[in-house]
Amino acid sequence: MRYISTRGRAPARDFAAVLLAGLAEDGGLFVPEAWPRFSPADWRALRGLAYPDLAARVMAPFVGEAIPLAVLERICRDAYAGFAHPAVVPLVQLETGLWVQELFHGPTLAFKDMAMQVLGRLFDHVLAARDARVTIVGATSGDTGSAAIAACAGRARVDIVILHPEGRTSEVQRRQMTTVAAGNVTNIAVAGTFDDCQDLVKALFADAALREELHLSAVNSINWARIAAQVPYYVAAALALGAPDRAVVFAVPTGNFGNVLAAWVAARLGLPVARLVVGSNRNDILTRFLAANDMSVRAVEPSLSPSMDIQVSSNFERLLFALMDGDAARTAAAMTAFRTGGRMPVPAAAWRRARDRFRGFRLDDAATLGEIRRLDAACGYLADPHTAVGIAAARAEACAGVPTVAMATAHPAKFPDAIAQAVGRRPPLPAALADLYERPEHYARAPNDLAAVKALVRAATQRNVA
Ligand SMILES: *Cc1c(COP(=O)(O)O)cnc(C)c1O
Repeated sequence: MRYISTRGRAPARDFAAVLLAGLAEDGGLFVPEAWPRFSPADWRALRGLAYPDLAARVMAPFVGEAIPLAVLERICRDAYAGFAHPAVVPLVQLETGLWVQELFHGPTLAFKDMAMQVLGRLFDHVLAARDARVTIVGATSGDTGSAAIAACAGRARVDIVILHPEGRTSEVQRRQMTTVAAGNVTNIAVAGTFDDCQDLVKALFADAALREELHLSAVNSINWARIAAQVPYYVAAALALGAPDRAVVFAVPTGNFGNVLAAWVAARLGLPVARLVVGSNRNDILTRFLAANDMSVRAVEPSLSPSMDIQVSSNFERLLFALMDGDAARTAAAMTAFRTGGRMPVPAAAWRRARDRFRGFRLDDAATLGEIRRLDAACGYLADPHTAVGIAAARAEACAGVPTVAMATAHPAKFPDAIAQAVGRRPPLPAALADLYERPEHYARAPNDLAAVKALVRAATQRNVA
């Protein structure tokens, strides 16, 4: 299996190279050169498998020759062994025709663990084969950093350095990062904002000498391996509800478009998916696009579902490339126009093709609290604010007679303030994190200054090379 760039000016690569590179050199995103296809008999053969085994089989065509199936199976079993639910991704029925699939039973209580736990192990395997090491550097406002740290802690060939804005993440999120006591993990609290942290990371990557010296790498949401690792749970849900003989609808609370893109990939593999519903909060650029072909950037506004407070959904480029029939030149031109003019020019025919599959749905904070309250009263289900948007989207845009699955992307205990506001009580942390507030924290502090951060990154890496 080979991967090409959506912008057409980078050499084709295999899965291992795409995993390590993240972004293509031309600024594009990697996509499969040719799409694998599962027949109805192939889908049936996956029924009844334990989730880690199913995950390995679904990922296998994307991994191709890069990693043997037996190794991939071992990686998937190991990745999901620490999840708190024996089914890994349980389906919970809320009402006739409506289910949630819980993706939050991993170590940091959010769906990012589904892919990150696999990714950390893939890195170790691929780097061992090359006798190489990397330093993963990232900035976080919360969820991504904690999932990346949990996935990389203790890995033999990876050092990880995560910058967070001091005093600007929630306490649960900070402690999930800073209480990990592994020698290859470094947290840096930067005296600045999340944007400052992102700018510092960009500047580190822009320093070619440093990038070479420390083998800098990233695990951000445009990494194809993350998308590939998110496809299997859509397959598991559809099989449980009657696929390939019956279609399903998926509703996905969306920020960077990575999770819902994985659902689209599942459909592209041949899974019968009647519709994909994209849930947004007040940052509703995708809803406006799907309703009226208006993909125009507005200022990001904070909401109760912070992981969806995004205006530029980076993974959308992969869908755009497909909507433009794989025309890399037109994709690159549209992306350039979007970056410079703040508005994505999508041809009407391409937009109609998006509408064949996708619907958008928007829910503001007041309605999100209302949905959390309604779910608690109607079926005793406690949904976090992101999940509540997904469930409301599922109800609004279901197809008659087709089973609908909303993706539950975070555990309610991750957002205790919103839950308390909605239902008047705080959800307890699950047992594995019950002592989070007693664990010692480890982090360095830095001014918003590139030289200071660079020194800390270098020291963190050297500590582990010997
Ligand atoms: C990251 C995240 C999302 C958004 O997922 P994307 O893949 O960026 O669309 C939704 N909910 C939660 C809880 C998240 O952490």
